[in-house]
Amino acid sequence: MSVILPVAKQGEDILKLKAAPVAESEFNSEWLQQLAAAMQATMSVREGVGIAAPQVYISKRVIIVASRSNVRYPDAPEMDAVVMVNPEILEFSQETCLGEEGCLSVPNERGQVERAQTVKVRYRTLQGDVVEATYEGFPARIVQHEVDHLDGVLFVERLTL
Ligand code: ZN
Repeated sequence: MSVILPVAKQGEDILKLKAAPVAESEFNSEWLQQLAAAMQATMSVREGVGIAAPQVYISKRVIIVASRSNVRYPDAPEMDAVVMVNPEILEFSQETCLGEEGCLSVPNERGQVERAQTVKVRYRTLQGDVVEATYEGFPARIVQHEVDHLDGVLFVERLTL
């Protein structure tokens, strides 16, 4: 059983902060494992496809990306949830695409956001291993949306009118 955490809403200061990197001493710790488990449970219960730690009032650079097909993105790939600690987007493709986004922190609002079609990201696992991976399409969109949260940016600030 994992803890379900309250989710911060648009307008709250926690969502405007630049989150702090997870420190070396925190890798492989019970605390980091529990944070990731609680984030995942909170995302799942709200049927999200991604979540960032600041959304659960923890100003740390931890995100979860969990694409699955849905009404708006029927072709989105089904993937196991990936926990990314201290993620950095190394490359954004020149090619962009417009797509609809929503957010657990912005209830009842959706909008069109232009994002890079493909991103290359480097992150650490909960154990501290370094991983580099490339994401395309909907999963790439989720990565960009969640990394934005770590920098205090909400999708509503990126809407294409
Ligand atoms: Zn969000």
